[in-house]
Amino acid sequence: DALGPTIVVGEILVEIMARTRGVGFLEPIDLIGPFPSGAPAIFIDQCAKIGGAAGIIASVGDDDFGRLNVERLRRDGADVSAISVSPDYPTGSAFVRYRADGSRDFVYNIAKSAAGLLALTADAKAMIARAGHLHVMGTALAIPEVWAILDHAIGIIKGRGGSISLDPNLRKELLGGQTEERFARLIDVADLLLPSGDELFVAGKADGEAAATAALFGRAVTEIALKRGEGGSTFFGADGSRIDCQAFAVDEVDPTGAGDCFGGAYVASRRLGMPAAMALEYANAAGARNVAVLGPMEGAGSRRELDAFIATTPRHGV
Ligand code: ATP
Ligand code: MG
Repeated sequence: DALGPTIVVGEILVEIMARTRGVGFLEPIDLIGPFPSGAPAIFIDQCAKIGGAAGIIASVGDDDFGRLNVERLRRDGADVSAISVSPDYPTGSAFVRYRADGSRDFVYNIAKSAAGLLALTADAKAMIARAGHLHVMGTALAIPEVWAILDHAIGIIKGRGGSISLDPNLRKELLGGQTEERFARLIDVADLLLPSGDELFVAGKADGEAAATAALFGRAVTEIALKRGEGGSTFFGADGSRIDCQAFAVDEVDPTGAGDCFGGAYVASRRLGMPAAMALEYANAAGARNVAVLGPMEGAGSRRELDAFIATTPRHGV
């Protein structure tokens, strides 16, 4: 895009997964990893891979977990110049184990890892100064410094005519008090929302889809891409238009990262000038391709890979 790259701010992690389903990590179990991870990192990797100009403001440790992530992002075409390397703190990590019912147990090391050391460095300022779009990832809002970086970035990017997208990742536990008020301010500046499931109703403060989307279009929002897991996705435009996209039929191996790949593909496609229906198609393909592969970022696809996936994968309910 002529205005400059899409950028994101937030956590870079490695993910280490249990090979067996079960409860927690209270005995020795088989693990697989490290995999590159962190919702903002997955988003920006997919964004870059599909061909969008993309960069991330983040922090990793001076260790292999950090190098693994930075090298993956670099290889896939993301601008890694605003990833700072902490000499003191290790790269963030998440250990995850699926339970039989599909819920997950985690052991996180994020807030007290290098991921928690995010700061508005000179490199971060330089990236913000040339950015054309900011994607706000709800998961990153748990890092206190992220709010200050976003405040700075929103002012500058909006000031140069750029746009903002928001993946709310709203968890009820996060709401209340200051967070709720800050969230409302974020929704007030967002042009594009990428909610999943009930997040639409929380963001729109209304019960039905029609009421929630109407409330959001009464603010700055001009489009909404709603994620519905294996139910596919729906585009809502401020002009009243609606496009439903059926999900691709895949074997779900690892659902982590689907929403982030969906978002990365959607935002990049729109910024490359594609119409909403085409962007939604790529986003659905990116989400579905990613759940079919073990590892949160492993299924992110290039445009060629996504084209091949679309051409060869049947749809749900067809
Ligand atoms: P995350 O768990 O990453 O936060 P999310 O809740 O934000 O995910 P989802 O709706 O789970 O987002 O997934 C995003 C998109 O990926 C869906 O809209 C759909 O197009 C695709 N997708 C996700 N899960 C599946 C699946 N099991 N089969 C086919 N497509 C899927
Ligand atoms: Mg999500």
